[in-house]
Amino acid sequence: MFEPPFTRDRAANERLAAQACEACGWVSFPEAREVCKRCGERGEWRDTRLEQQGTVQSYVVQQRLPEGFETPLPLAIMDVPQISGGEPARVYGLFTETDPADIEVGTEAEAVFRRIFDVEGLPVHSFKFRLPRGETE
Ligand SMILES: [Zn+2]
Repeated sequence: MFEPPFTRDRAANERLAAQACEACGWVSFPEAREVCKRCGERGEWRDTRLEQQGTVQSYVVQQRLPEGFETPLPLAIMDVPQISGGEPARVYGLFTETDPADIEVGTEAEAVFRRIFDVEGLPVHSFKFRLPRGETE
């Protein structure tokens, strides 16, 4: 039976709960890891929380996607600061409710919790990014 990866702990996802490697400070989000992707340590992880807002480092605007996705659909690499400080998490995220023409490297965007797609009739939720309300109006 399919187990949606992001609905098991919806509250934690809404808070942008992440883990930071104690050895090198690299931040893993959204998935928890046993081995650090950067330093390779199988060490200690510290729970951390991310700010709701981050900065676009790079992005693409997807034009061709499987049925069920609306296009054009921007996909960005975001730097999202930890609330506690330290290095930001580098996060892949889809945009929503945003005109792709309004996105540039350096654009500030906020994380919101949205339905991503359905699997076996069940909605799978995760975070997406959008321009902060007020700047687009
Ligand atoms: Zn590490």
